[in-house]
Amino acid sequence: MKYALLDRGDQLSRQLAEQLHGLAATKGLTHNEQKPDIVVSIGGDGTLLQAFHRYKDQLDCVSFVGVHTGHLGFYADWKKDEIEQLVSAMAASKPHNVIYPLLHIEVNTKSGSSSYLALNEFTLKGVDGTLVASLLINDEPFEMFRGDGIVISTPSGSTGYNKSLGGAVIHPSLEALQIAEIASINNRIYRTLGSSVILPKHHHCDIVPNPDKELHIAIDHLAVQMSGVTSITCRVSDQKVAFARYRPFPFWNRVREAFIGSKD
Ligand code: NAP
Ligand code: MN
Repeated sequence: MKYALLDRGDQLSRQLAEQLHGLAATKGLTHNEQKPDIVVSIGGDGTLLQAFHRYKDQLDCVSFVGVHTGHLGFYADWKKDEIEQLVSAMAASKPHNVIYPLLHIEVNTKSGSSSYLALNEFTLKGVDGTLVASLLINDEPFEMFRGDGIVISTPSGSTGYNKSLGGAVIHPSLEALQIAEIASINNRIYRTLGSSVILPKHHHCDIVPNPDKELHIAIDHLAVQMSGVTSITCRVSDQKVAFARYRPFPFWNRVREAFIGSKD
């Protein structure tokens, strides 16, 4: 079993990383950053997002496991005092992999197109003022959006930015994407649906902005400014991400612990 490790860089996360390397060596686990079977993230969800993007070209052969060190760690199953149990589990058994859907994003510009993969979401905002863009669902015009922005999330990302926007929390066994609005302008003149929309696999949506406007585009934690964008297409990706589970941690327990508090 080969593992790679990414930590947030703070003192506690680094210390736990050292502890994990030490224990792993005694249990016969091989540290391999290039071709790991398991990618361990120590920190928060931000760290796991970084780990995902580092290994997104190897999704067929890696699975991710998270240890949280104080941050929310929605994606993290293990606590800071459980490194020893985690390493023992990694050495003793093949994990049960839980498979989550991802979002495929294609950004078309005047000069070509590029594709991206998101674990949490795709975010679109205007840079100078209101974002104006038409939204199409399955190639049919749906609405003309005016407002601060649009967030299109995966089921596991539905508890992130999407949730702050009043979007629904979606179980990751549903292969879907969710479109949520950021402060849409709604009055006699301008109208959007107002509620978030959930699309199944094999449906897609296109966002068509004014190509002369500068846009803020984010894929998970990675943000860029772009101009000359003619359209953006989002769909459920054919690729999936695997999380290594050495003990059960059902999604709804995760949601309860992160947002409501633990049972006791
Ligand atoms: P960050 O500013 O630290 O993230 C904001 C918070 O979102 C952190 O508490 C983070 O947990 C948590 N988070 C990330 N993914 C989550 C998920 N799938 N479910 C529940 N909570 C989640 O930035 P970051 O750590 O680089 O994470 C980037 C993410 O932040 C984006 O993908 C987006 O989902 C989220 N975000 C939220 C808002 C908002 O709610 N207004 C605005 C921008 C971005 P940790 O503390 O464990 O890192
Ligand atoms: Mn964070």
